[in-house]
Amino acid sequence: MAPAAPAVPTAAVKSGRDSNFKDKEKSGSVRNSNIVAAKAVADAVRTSLGPRGMDKMIQSGNGDVTITNDGATILNQMSVIHPTAKMLVELSKAQDIEAGDGTTTVVVIAGALLDAAQKLLVKGIHPTAISESFQRAASQAEVILQNMATPIDLANDELLVKLATTSLNSKVVSQHSWLLAPMAVNAVKKVLDDSRPDNVDLKSIKIIKKMGDTVEESEMIDGALIDQKTMGRGGPTRVEKAKIALIQFQLSAPKTDMENQVIISDYAQMDRALKEERQYLLDLCKQIKKSGCNVVLIQKSILRDAVSELSLHFLAKMKIMVVKDIERDDIEFYSNILGCRPVASPDHMVPESLGSADLVEEISTGGDGKVIKVTGIQSSGPAVSILLRGSNKLVLEEADRSLHDALCVIRCLVKKRFLLPGGGAPEMEVACRLREKANERGGAEQYCWRAFADALELVPYTLAENAGLSPIHTVTELRTQHANGHANFGVNVRKGFVTDMKEENVVQPLLVSYNAIKQAAECVRSILKIDDIV
Ligand code: ADP
Ligand code: MG
Repeated sequence: MAPAAPAVPTAAVKSGRDSNFKDKEKSGSVRNSNIVAAKAVADAVRTSLGPRGMDKMIQSGNGDVTITNDGATILNQMSVIHPTAKMLVELSKAQDIEAGDGTTTVVVIAGALLDAAQKLLVKGIHPTAISESFQRAASQAEVILQNMATPIDLANDELLVKLATTSLNSKVVSQHSWLLAPMAVNAVKKVLDDSRPDNVDLKSIKIIKKMGDTVEESEMIDGALIDQKTMGRGGPTRVEKAKIALIQFQLSAPKTDMENQVIISDYAQMDRALKEERQYLLDLCKQIKKSGCNVVLIQKSILRDAVSELSLHFLAKMKIMVVKDIERDDIEFYSNILGCRPVASPDHMVPESLGSADLVEEISTGGDGKVIKVTGIQSSGPAVSILLRGSNKLVLEEADRSLHDALCVIRCLVKKRFLLPGGGAPEMEVACRLREKANERGGAEQYCWRAFADALELVPYTLAENAGLSPIHTVTELRTQHANGHANFGVNVRKGFVTDMKEENVVQPLLVSYNAIKQAAECVRSILKIDDIV
Protein backbone atom coordinates (compact mmCIF):
# COMPACT_ATOMS: atom_id res chain seq x y z
CA MET A 1 0.00 0.00 0.00
CA ALA A 2 2.63 2.43 1.05
CA PRO A 3 4.88 2.46 -2.05
CA ALA A 4 2.14 3.83 -4.36
CA ALA A 5 1.87 7.18 -2.57
CA PRO A 6 5.33 8.67 -3.20
CA ALA A 7 5.33 7.56 -6.84
CA VAL A 8 3.18 10.52 -8.00
CA PRO A 9 5.25 13.36 -6.56
CA THR A 10 8.49 11.82 -7.85
CA ALA A 11 7.10 11.74 -11.36
CA ALA A 12 5.90 15.31 -11.07
CA VAL A 13 9.28 16.52 -9.88
CA LYS A 14 10.97 14.67 -12.66
CA SER A 15 8.84 16.10 -15.41
CA GLY A 16 9.18 19.57 -13.89
CA ARG A 17 12.92 19.32 -14.07
CA ASP A 18 12.66 18.09 -17.61
CA SER A 19 10.60 21.02 -18.77
CA ASN A 20 12.90 23.44 -16.96
CA PHE A 21 15.78 21.93 -18.74
CA LYS A 22 14.01 22.17 -22.09
CA ASP A 23 13.16 25.83 -21.53
CA LYS A 24 16.78 26.67 -20.92
CA GLU A 25 17.74 24.82 -24.01
CA LYS A 26 15.21 26.77 -26.03
CA SER A 27 16.27 30.20 -24.83
CA GLY A 28 19.84 29.17 -25.47
CA SER A 29 19.09 28.21 -29.03
CA VAL A 30 17.03 31.34 -29.68
CA ARG A 31 19.91 33.43 -28.40
CA ASN A 32 22.33 31.51 -30.52
CA SER A 33 20.35 31.89 -33.71
CA ASN A 34 19.90 35.60 -32.99
CA ILE A 35 23.63 36.01 -32.63
CA VAL A 36 24.33 34.03 -35.78
CA ALA A 37 21.91 36.15 -37.83
CA ALA A 38 23.33 39.42 -36.56
CA LYS A 39 26.89 38.27 -37.07
CA ALA A 40 26.13 37.40 -40.68
CA VAL A 41 25.12 41.01 -41.28
CA ALA A 42 28.27 42.30 -39.63
CA ASP A 43 30.41 39.97 -41.73
CA ALA A 44 28.78 41.27 -44.89
CA VAL A 45 30.00 44.83 -44.33
CA ARG A 46 33.33 43.99 -42.76
CA THR A 47 35.19 44.02 -46.07
CA SER A 48 34.09 47.64 -46.64
CA LEU A 49 35.98 49.04 -43.66
CA GLY A 50 38.81 51.44 -44.17
CA PRO A 51 40.56 53.22 -47.02
CA ARG A 52 41.37 49.96 -48.76
CA GLY A 53 37.94 48.51 -48.10
CA MET A 54 35.80 47.22 -50.92
CA ASP A 55 32.62 48.78 -52.20
CA LYS A 56 29.28 47.06 -52.50
CA MET A 57 27.00 47.03 -55.48
CA ILE A 58 23.41 46.79 -54.43
CA GLN A 59 20.59 46.08 -56.80
CA SER A 60 17.17 47.06 -55.56
CA GLY A 61 13.90 45.41 -56.48
CA ASN A 62 13.17 47.90 -59.23
CA GLY A 63 16.55 47.36 -60.86
CA ASP A 64 18.26 50.48 -59.52
CA VAL A 65 21.93 49.97 -58.78
CA THR A 66 23.84 51.65 -55.98
CA ILE A 67 27.59 51.50 -55.48
CA THR A 68 28.66 52.53 -52.03
CA ASN A 69 31.13 52.10 -49.21
CA ASP A 70 28.92 53.65 -46.56
CA GLY A 71 27.86 51.12 -43.94
CA ALA A 72 24.50 52.74 -43.23
CA THR A 73 23.63 52.83 -46.92
CA ILE A 74 24.67 49.22 -47.53
CA LEU A 75 22.62 47.92 -44.63
CA ASN A 76 19.68 50.12 -45.40
CA GLN A 77 19.42 48.74 -48.91
CA MET A 78 20.00 45.13 -47.93
CA SER A 79 16.72 43.39 -47.39
CA VAL A 80 17.34 41.58 -44.12
CA ILE A 81 14.54 39.52 -42.69
CA HIS A 82 15.71 38.23 -39.33
CA PRO A 83 14.61 40.59 -36.54
CA THR A 84 18.01 40.74 -34.83
CA ALA A 85 19.73 41.34 -38.14
CA LYS A 86 17.40 44.32 -38.43
CA MET A 87 18.72 45.56 -35.10
CA LEU A 88 22.15 45.92 -36.68
CA VAL A 89 20.62 47.91 -39.51
CA GLU A 90 19.07 50.19 -36.92
CA LEU A 91 22.37 50.39 -35.09
CA SER A 92 24.11 51.66 -38.18
CA LYS A 93 21.30 54.13 -38.78
CA ALA A 94 21.59 55.41 -35.22
CA GLN A 95 25.32 55.98 -35.69
CA ASP A 96 24.56 57.79 -38.94
CA ILE A 97 22.19 60.16 -37.16
CA GLU A 98 24.34 60.69 -34.09
CA ALA A 99 27.80 60.94 -35.67
CA GLY A 100 27.32 60.58 -39.44
CA ASP A 101 30.54 58.63 -39.89
CA GLY A 102 31.76 55.32 -38.48
CA THR A 103 28.69 53.46 -39.68
CA THR A 104 30.74 50.46 -40.81
CA THR A 105 32.91 50.52 -37.72
CA VAL A 106 29.93 50.33 -35.39
CA VAL A 107 28.59 47.22 -37.10
CA VAL A 108 32.00 45.56 -37.18
CA ILE A 109 32.42 46.17 -33.44
CA ALA A 110 28.93 44.86 -32.73
CA GLY A 111 29.68 41.72 -34.73
CA ALA A 112 32.90 41.16 -32.80
CA LEU A 113 31.20 41.69 -29.46
CA LEU A 114 28.49 39.20 -30.41
CA ASP A 115 31.13 36.68 -31.28
CA ALA A 116 32.75 37.28 -27.91
CA ALA A 117 29.43 36.94 -26.14
CA GLN A 118 28.75 33.66 -27.87
CA LYS A 119 32.02 32.23 -26.59
CA LEU A 120 31.33 33.48 -23.09
CA LEU A 121 27.91 31.83 -23.17
CA VAL A 122 29.53 28.55 -24.11
CA LYS A 123 31.77 28.91 -21.07
CA GLY A 124 28.58 28.97 -19.04
CA ILE A 125 28.51 32.63 -18.00
CA HIS A 126 24.98 33.91 -17.60
CA PRO A 127 23.74 36.33 -20.31
CA THR A 128 22.83 38.95 -17.72
CA ALA A 129 26.30 38.81 -16.22
CA ILE A 130 27.84 39.23 -19.68
CA SER A 131 25.51 42.07 -20.48
CA GLU A 132 26.34 43.96 -17.32
CA SER A 133 30.06 43.42 -17.63
CA PHE A 134 29.94 44.70 -21.21
CA GLN A 135 28.17 47.81 -20.02
CA ARG A 136 30.84 48.52 -17.44
CA ALA A 137 33.58 47.79 -19.96
CA ALA A 138 31.96 50.19 -22.44
CA SER A 139 31.84 53.02 -19.93
CA GLN A 140 35.46 52.35 -19.05
CA ALA A 141 36.23 52.49 -22.79
CA GLU A 142 34.70 55.95 -22.96
CA VAL A 143 37.01 57.14 -20.18
CA ILE A 144 40.03 55.68 -21.97
CA LEU A 145 39.08 57.36 -25.23
CA GLN A 146 38.55 60.68 -23.53
CA ASN A 147 42.00 60.38 -21.94
CA MET A 148 43.78 59.78 -25.22
CA ALA A 149 41.90 62.51 -27.12
CA THR A 150 43.46 65.89 -27.92
CA PRO A 151 41.40 69.06 -27.82
CA ILE A 152 40.99 70.93 -31.08
CA ASP A 153 40.53 74.58 -31.91
CA LEU A 154 37.83 75.20 -34.51
CA ALA A 155 39.87 78.06 -35.93
CA ASN A 156 42.49 75.57 -37.10
CA ASP A 157 41.26 75.05 -40.65
CA GLU A 158 44.21 72.98 -41.69
CA LEU A 159 43.48 70.39 -39.04
CA LEU A 160 39.76 70.34 -39.83
CA VAL A 161 40.57 69.63 -43.47
CA LYS A 162 42.71 66.68 -42.36
CA LEU A 163 39.79 65.27 -40.39
CA ALA A 164 37.43 65.61 -43.32
CA THR A 165 40.04 63.99 -45.56
CA THR A 166 40.27 60.94 -43.29
CA SER A 167 36.55 60.33 -43.62
CA LEU A 168 36.79 60.72 -47.41
CA ASN A 169 39.79 58.35 -47.61
CA SER A 170 37.61 55.28 -47.78
CA LYS A 171 35.30 56.58 -50.51
CA VAL A 172 35.24 56.14 -54.26
CA VAL A 173 35.64 59.90 -54.59
CA SER A 174 38.72 59.99 -52.32
CA GLN A 175 40.91 61.32 -55.11
CA HIS A 176 38.79 64.47 -55.03
CA SER A 177 39.19 64.98 -51.31
CA TRP A 178 41.49 67.98 -51.95
CA LEU A 179 38.33 69.73 -53.17
CA LEU A 180 35.59 68.14 -51.08
CA ALA A 181 37.34 68.31 -47.69
CA PRO A 182 37.92 72.10 -47.63
CA MET A 183 34.44 72.51 -49.07
CA ALA A 184 32.92 70.62 -46.15
CA VAL A 185 34.92 72.67 -43.65
CA ASN A 186 33.95 75.99 -45.24
CA ALA A 187 30.30 75.04 -45.53
CA VAL A 188 29.98 74.03 -41.87
CA LYS A 189 31.85 77.11 -40.73
CA LYS A 190 29.53 79.33 -42.72
CA VAL A 191 26.40 77.95 -41.10
CA LEU A 192 27.83 77.93 -37.59
CA ASP A 193 25.34 79.69 -35.39
CA ASP A 194 26.74 81.75 -32.53
CA SER A 195 23.56 81.35 -30.51
CA ARG A 196 23.92 77.55 -30.66
CA PRO A 197 27.69 77.10 -30.58
CA ASP A 198 27.70 73.35 -29.96
CA ASN A 199 25.63 72.10 -32.85
CA VAL A 200 25.21 72.61 -36.57
CA ASP A 201 22.02 72.21 -38.52
CA LEU A 202 23.07 70.40 -41.66
CA LYS A 203 19.74 71.33 -43.23
CA SER A 204 21.23 74.78 -43.80
CA ILE A 205 23.65 73.21 -46.25
CA LYS A 206 21.85 72.37 -49.43
CA ILE A 207 23.59 70.03 -51.81
CA ILE A 208 22.25 70.16 -55.34
CA LYS A 209 23.27 67.24 -57.52
CA LYS A 210 23.56 67.73 -61.25
CA MET A 211 24.77 65.15 -63.67
CA GLY A 212 27.47 66.19 -66.11
CA ASP A 213 31.13 67.21 -65.79
CA THR A 214 33.29 65.57 -63.15
CA VAL A 215 33.27 65.77 -59.38
CA GLU A 216 36.12 68.27 -59.66
CA GLU A 217 33.78 70.84 -61.16
CA SER A 218 31.70 70.86 -57.97
CA GLU A 219 31.63 74.17 -56.16
CA MET A 220 30.34 75.91 -53.12
CA ILE A 221 28.21 78.76 -54.38
CA ASP A 222 28.67 82.24 -53.07
CA GLY A 223 24.94 82.80 -53.07
CA ALA A 224 22.00 80.46 -53.43
CA LEU A 225 21.02 77.71 -55.83
CA ILE A 226 17.53 76.55 -56.57
CA ASP A 227 17.08 73.17 -58.19
CA GLN A 228 14.32 74.29 -60.58
CA LYS A 229 13.82 75.92 -63.95
CA THR A 230 12.00 79.12 -64.67
CA MET A 231 8.51 78.63 -65.98
CA GLY A 232 9.30 80.33 -69.26
CA ARG A 233 6.25 81.41 -71.32
CA GLY A 234 8.28 84.39 -72.49
CA GLY A 235 9.15 85.48 -68.98
CA PRO A 236 12.68 86.56 -68.09
CA THR A 237 15.37 83.98 -67.30
CA ARG A 238 17.81 86.56 -66.02
CA VAL A 239 16.93 89.39 -63.67
CA GLU A 240 19.33 92.00 -62.38
CA LYS A 241 18.67 93.92 -59.18
CA ALA A 242 16.26 91.22 -58.19
CA LYS A 243 13.54 91.54 -55.57
CA ILE A 244 12.63 88.02 -54.60
CA ALA A 245 9.33 86.91 -53.10
CA LEU A 246 8.75 83.48 -51.63
CA ILE A 247 5.02 82.88 -51.84
CA GLN A 248 2.90 80.15 -50.36
CA PHE A 249 -0.38 80.93 -52.12
CA GLN A 250 -1.41 79.75 -55.56
CA LEU A 251 -1.73 81.74 -58.73
CA SER A 252 -4.61 79.77 -60.15
CA ALA A 253 -8.38 79.79 -59.97
CA PRO A 254 -9.62 78.93 -56.48
CA LYS A 255 -11.18 75.57 -55.77
CA THR A 256 -13.78 74.73 -53.23
CA ASP A 257 -12.90 72.47 -50.33
CA MET A 258 -15.47 69.88 -51.32
CA GLU A 259 -16.45 68.39 -54.64
CA ASN A 260 -18.71 71.02 -56.11
CA GLN A 261 -20.09 71.61 -59.56
CA VAL A 262 -20.99 74.87 -61.20
CA ILE A 263 -23.45 74.38 -64.01
CA ILE A 264 -23.26 76.92 -66.75
CA SER A 265 -26.16 76.95 -69.12
CA ASP A 266 -25.48 79.73 -71.60
CA TYR A 267 -22.61 81.54 -73.31
CA ALA A 268 -23.10 84.78 -71.39
CA GLN A 269 -22.58 82.99 -68.11
CA MET A 270 -19.53 81.22 -69.46
CA ASP A 271 -18.05 84.49 -70.59
CA ARG A 272 -18.64 85.97 -67.19
CA ALA A 273 -17.00 83.05 -65.42
CA LEU A 274 -13.94 83.23 -67.64
CA LYS A 275 -13.73 86.97 -67.26
CA GLU A 276 -13.90 86.67 -63.51
CA GLU A 277 -11.16 84.12 -63.42
CA ARG A 278 -9.05 86.40 -65.60
CA GLN A 279 -9.73 89.36 -63.38
CA TYR A 280 -8.95 87.39 -60.23
CA LEU A 281 -5.59 86.25 -61.57
CA LEU A 282 -4.75 89.67 -62.95
CA ASP A 283 -5.41 91.21 -59.54
CA LEU A 284 -3.12 88.69 -57.89
CA CYS A 285 -0.35 89.37 -60.37
CA LYS A 286 -0.80 93.13 -59.99
CA GLN A 287 -0.50 92.79 -56.24
CA ILE A 288 2.76 90.95 -56.70
CA LYS A 289 4.02 93.56 -59.13
CA LYS A 290 3.00 96.39 -56.82
CA SER A 291 5.26 95.19 -54.05
CA GLY A 292 8.20 95.72 -56.41
CA CYS A 293 8.89 92.04 -56.82
CA ASN A 294 10.48 90.74 -60.00
CA VAL A 295 11.29 87.14 -59.08
CA VAL A 296 8.67 84.92 -57.49
CA LEU A 297 9.34 81.53 -55.97
CA ILE A 298 6.17 79.52 -55.45
CA GLN A 299 5.79 76.75 -52.90
CA LYS A 300 4.83 73.35 -54.27
CA SER A 301 1.12 72.88 -54.13
CA ILE A 302 -0.76 69.63 -53.94
CA LEU A 303 -4.42 70.46 -53.77
CA ARG A 304 -4.50 72.80 -56.71
CA ASP A 305 -2.16 74.02 -59.40
CA ALA A 306 0.44 76.44 -58.14
CA VAL A 307 0.22 78.48 -61.34
CA SER A 308 -2.07 78.51 -64.31
CA GLU A 309 -1.21 79.28 -67.92
CA LEU A 310 -3.01 82.57 -67.63
CA SER A 311 -1.15 83.79 -64.56
CA LEU A 312 2.16 82.75 -66.13
CA HIS A 313 1.21 84.83 -69.14
CA PHE A 314 0.47 87.89 -67.00
CA LEU A 315 3.67 87.50 -64.97
CA ALA A 316 5.73 87.12 -68.15
CA LYS A 317 4.24 90.35 -69.45
CA MET A 318 5.13 92.07 -66.19
CA LYS A 319 8.71 90.80 -66.60
CA ILE A 320 8.53 88.73 -63.44
CA MET A 321 10.55 85.52 -63.27
CA VAL A 322 8.55 82.57 -62.00
CA VAL A 323 9.98 79.49 -60.29
CA LYS A 324 7.51 76.96 -58.98
CA ASP A 325 7.60 73.77 -56.92
CA ILE A 326 9.72 74.94 -54.02
CA GLU A 327 9.39 72.06 -51.54
CA ARG A 328 7.63 72.77 -48.29
CA ASP A 329 10.70 71.59 -46.37
CA ASP A 330 12.95 73.99 -48.24
CA ILE A 331 10.96 77.12 -47.45
CA GLU A 332 12.92 77.76 -44.28
CA PHE A 333 16.22 77.27 -46.05
CA TYR A 334 15.37 79.66 -48.87
CA SER A 335 13.87 82.30 -46.65
CA ASN A 336 17.07 82.10 -44.62
CA ILE A 337 19.56 82.25 -47.45
CA LEU A 338 17.68 84.80 -49.58
CA GLY A 339 16.77 87.00 -46.66
CA CYS A 340 13.08 87.07 -47.53
CA ARG A 341 9.96 86.28 -45.53
CA PRO A 342 7.56 83.61 -46.78
CA VAL A 343 4.28 85.24 -47.82
CA ALA A 344 1.17 83.20 -47.13
CA SER A 345 -1.46 85.49 -48.58
CA PRO A 346 -1.56 88.03 -51.43
CA ASP A 347 -2.51 90.73 -48.90
CA HIS A 348 0.83 90.33 -47.20
CA MET A 349 2.84 91.13 -50.31
CA VAL A 350 4.82 94.07 -48.99
CA PRO A 351 8.28 95.31 -50.01
CA GLU A 352 9.69 94.36 -46.60
CA SER A 353 9.05 90.68 -47.19
CA LEU A 354 11.18 90.63 -50.32
CA GLY A 355 14.80 89.56 -50.52
CA SER A 356 17.28 91.54 -52.62
CA ALA A 357 20.00 90.16 -54.83
CA ASP A 358 22.19 91.54 -57.59
CA LEU A 359 21.42 88.81 -60.05
CA VAL A 360 19.09 85.87 -60.47
CA GLU A 361 19.72 83.75 -63.52
CA GLU A 362 18.91 80.39 -64.94
CA ILE A 363 22.07 78.52 -65.82
CA SER A 364 22.43 75.36 -67.78
CA THR A 365 24.35 72.46 -66.24
CA GLY A 366 24.69 70.48 -69.43
CA GLY A 367 22.05 68.34 -71.08
CA ASP A 368 18.64 69.62 -70.15
CA GLY A 369 19.69 70.22 -66.55
CA LYS A 370 19.14 73.72 -65.28
CA VAL A 371 19.44 75.49 -61.97
CA ILE A 372 18.62 78.96 -60.79
CA LYS A 373 21.57 80.80 -59.35
CA VAL A 374 21.17 83.81 -57.09
CA THR A 375 24.26 85.93 -56.48
CA GLY A 376 25.00 89.12 -54.60
CA ILE A 377 22.36 88.51 -51.93
CA GLN A 378 22.10 91.47 -49.60
CA SER A 379 21.11 90.02 -46.26
CA SER A 380 21.93 86.35 -46.50
CA GLY A 381 21.46 84.25 -43.38
CA PRO A 382 23.61 81.32 -42.27
CA ALA A 383 22.99 78.91 -45.14
CA VAL A 384 25.01 77.68 -48.11
CA SER A 385 24.41 75.86 -51.37
CA ILE A 386 26.78 73.39 -52.93
CA LEU A 387 26.60 72.35 -56.56
CA LEU A 388 27.79 68.78 -56.82
CA ARG A 389 28.72 67.37 -60.20
CA GLY A 390 29.42 63.87 -61.38
CA SER A 391 29.69 62.15 -64.70
CA ASN A 392 27.09 59.53 -63.94
CA LYS A 393 24.38 58.79 -61.44
CA LEU A 394 26.38 56.22 -59.45
CA VAL A 395 29.34 58.54 -58.91
CA LEU A 396 27.11 61.50 -58.18
CA GLU A 397 25.09 59.67 -55.53
CA GLU A 398 28.20 58.31 -53.85
CA ALA A 399 29.83 61.75 -53.95
CA ASP A 400 26.77 63.09 -52.19
CA ARG A 401 26.94 60.44 -49.47
CA SER A 402 30.68 60.98 -49.04
CA LEU A 403 30.29 64.72 -48.74
CA HIS A 404 27.57 64.09 -46.18
CA ASP A 405 30.05 62.02 -44.13
CA ALA A 406 32.64 64.77 -44.34
CA LEU A 407 30.11 67.40 -43.25
CA CYS A 408 29.08 65.16 -40.34
CA VAL A 409 32.69 64.75 -39.25
CA ILE A 410 33.08 68.51 -38.99
CA ARG A 411 29.75 68.69 -37.18
CA CYS A 412 31.04 66.09 -34.69
CA LEU A 413 33.97 68.36 -33.94
CA VAL A 414 31.66 71.26 -33.30
CA LYS A 415 29.67 69.09 -30.91
CA LYS A 416 32.67 67.65 -29.13
CA ARG A 417 35.95 69.38 -29.76
CA PHE A 418 38.38 66.49 -29.45
CA LEU A 419 40.17 64.33 -31.95
CA LEU A 420 41.72 60.89 -31.99
CA PRO A 421 44.28 59.23 -34.23
CA GLY A 422 42.72 56.93 -36.83
CA GLY A 423 43.75 53.64 -38.34
CA GLY A 424 42.45 51.50 -35.48
CA ALA A 425 44.57 53.30 -32.86
CA PRO A 426 41.65 54.17 -30.56
CA GLU A 427 40.29 50.63 -30.61
CA MET A 428 43.70 49.11 -29.89
CA GLU A 429 44.38 51.59 -27.11
CA VAL A 430 41.04 50.81 -25.47
CA ALA A 431 41.75 47.08 -25.82
CA CYS A 432 45.17 47.37 -24.15
CA ARG A 433 44.01 49.55 -21.28
CA LEU A 434 40.88 47.44 -20.72
CA ARG A 435 43.00 44.31 -20.47
CA GLU A 436 45.07 45.98 -17.75
CA LYS A 437 41.94 47.03 -15.92
CA ALA A 438 40.51 43.54 -16.26
CA ASN A 439 43.26 42.26 -13.96
CA GLU A 440 41.79 44.31 -11.15
CA ARG A 441 38.47 42.55 -11.57
CA GLY A 442 37.54 39.13 -10.38
CA GLY A 443 35.59 36.14 -11.59
CA ALA A 444 33.43 36.22 -14.69
CA GLU A 445 33.81 39.98 -14.97
CA GLN A 446 37.48 39.57 -15.78
CA TYR A 447 36.68 37.09 -18.53
CA CYS A 448 34.07 39.42 -20.01
CA TRP A 449 36.35 42.45 -20.01
CA ARG A 450 39.10 40.50 -21.70
CA ALA A 451 36.66 39.27 -24.32
CA PHE A 452 35.41 42.83 -24.84
CA ALA A 453 38.98 44.05 -25.30
CA ASP A 454 39.84 41.27 -27.75
CA ALA A 455 36.71 42.03 -29.75
CA LEU A 456 37.75 45.65 -30.30
CA GLU A 457 40.95 44.48 -31.93
CA LEU A 458 38.86 43.37 -34.87
CA VAL A 459 38.91 46.96 -36.17
CA PRO A 460 42.70 47.19 -36.72
CA TYR A 461 42.64 43.53 -37.76
CA THR A 462 40.10 44.25 -40.48
CA LEU A 463 41.85 47.43 -41.62
CA ALA A 464 45.03 45.41 -42.10
CA GLU A 465 43.22 42.51 -43.72
CA ASN A 466 41.42 44.78 -46.19
CA ALA A 467 44.67 46.48 -47.07
CA GLY A 468 46.24 43.14 -47.96
CA LEU A 469 48.60 43.11 -44.95
CA SER A 470 49.09 40.18 -42.66
CA PRO A 471 46.45 40.89 -40.02
CA ILE A 472 48.05 38.77 -37.29
CA HIS A 473 51.47 40.34 -37.65
CA THR A 474 50.05 43.83 -37.83
CA VAL A 475 47.82 43.41 -34.81
CA THR A 476 50.52 41.86 -32.61
CA GLU A 477 52.95 44.61 -33.60
CA LEU A 478 50.32 47.22 -32.85
CA ARG A 479 49.57 45.58 -29.51
CA THR A 480 53.24 45.75 -28.55
CA GLN A 481 53.43 49.45 -29.46
CA HIS A 482 50.37 50.29 -27.42
CA ALA A 483 51.61 48.24 -24.48
CA ASN A 484 54.76 50.36 -24.63
CA GLY A 485 52.72 53.52 -24.38
CA HIS A 486 52.54 54.58 -28.03
CA ALA A 487 48.85 55.41 -28.00
CA ASN A 488 48.84 57.08 -31.42
CA PHE A 489 50.08 54.08 -33.33
CA GLY A 490 47.73 52.62 -35.90
CA VAL A 491 47.65 50.59 -39.08
CA ASN A 492 49.28 52.58 -41.85
CA VAL A 493 47.63 51.12 -44.92
CA ARG A 494 49.79 53.12 -47.32
CA LYS A 495 53.19 52.10 -45.98
CA GLY A 496 52.03 48.66 -44.91
CA PHE A 497 53.17 48.73 -41.29
CA VAL A 498 52.37 50.25 -37.94
CA THR A 499 53.16 53.96 -37.45
CA ASP A 500 52.13 57.06 -35.55
CA MET A 501 48.83 58.00 -37.22
CA LYS A 502 48.93 61.63 -36.12
CA GLU A 503 52.15 62.12 -38.03
CA GLU A 504 50.45 60.56 -41.02
CA ASN A 505 47.64 63.12 -40.65
CA VAL A 506 45.06 60.38 -40.19
CA VAL A 507 42.83 61.80 -37.49
CA GLN A 508 39.15 61.39 -36.68
CA PRO A 509 36.69 63.00 -34.27
CA LEU A 510 36.36 61.58 -30.76
CA LEU A 511 32.59 61.48 -31.06
CA VAL A 512 32.71 58.93 -33.90
CA SER A 513 34.75 56.30 -32.03
CA TYR A 514 33.07 57.10 -28.74
CA ASN A 515 29.61 56.59 -30.12
CA ALA A 516 30.56 53.52 -32.11
CA ILE A 517 31.75 51.60 -29.05
CA LYS A 518 28.91 52.81 -26.88
CA GLN A 519 26.13 52.04 -29.33
CA ALA A 520 27.59 48.70 -30.42
CA ALA A 521 27.80 47.57 -26.79
CA GLU A 522 24.23 48.67 -26.17
CA CYS A 523 22.97 46.79 -29.21
CA VAL A 524 24.79 43.61 -28.19
CA ARG A 525 23.38 43.88 -24.70
CA SER A 526 19.85 44.06 -25.98
CA ILE A 527 20.41 41.06 -28.26
CA LEU A 528 21.75 39.06 -25.31
CA LYS A 529 18.69 39.87 -23.26
CA ILE A 530 16.32 38.27 -25.75
CA ASP A 531 15.44 34.70 -24.87
CA ASP A 532 12.47 34.10 -27.09
CA ILE A 533 10.94 35.26 -30.35
CA VAL A 534 7.17 35.04 -30.40
P1 ADP B 1 33.02 53.98 -41.54
O1 ADP B 1 31.80 53.80 -42.36
O2 ADP B 1 32.95 53.23 -40.25
O3 ADP B 1 33.44 55.38 -41.39
P2 ADP B 1 35.25 53.70 -43.29
O4 ADP B 1 35.25 52.78 -44.45
O5 ADP B 1 35.09 55.16 -43.55
O6 ADP B 1 34.15 53.18 -42.32
O7 ADP B 1 36.59 53.44 -42.50
C1 ADP B 1 36.90 54.12 -41.33
C2 ADP B 1 38.16 53.57 -40.73
O8 ADP B 1 39.25 53.73 -41.61
C3 ADP B 1 38.51 54.32 -39.47
O9 ADP B 1 38.86 53.40 -38.46
C4 ADP B 1 39.69 55.18 -39.87
O10 ADP B 1 40.55 55.42 -38.79
C5 ADP B 1 40.34 54.33 -40.92
N1 ADP B 1 41.16 55.10 -41.86
C6 ADP B 1 40.78 56.12 -42.64
N2 ADP B 1 41.82 56.60 -43.37
C7 ADP B 1 42.89 55.83 -43.04
C8 ADP B 1 44.27 55.80 -43.44
N3 ADP B 1 44.75 56.66 -44.33
N4 ADP B 1 45.05 54.87 -42.88
C9 ADP B 1 44.58 54.02 -41.99
N5 ADP B 1 43.32 53.98 -41.56
C10 ADP B 1 42.48 54.87 -42.07
MG1 MG C 1 33.97 56.78 -42.83
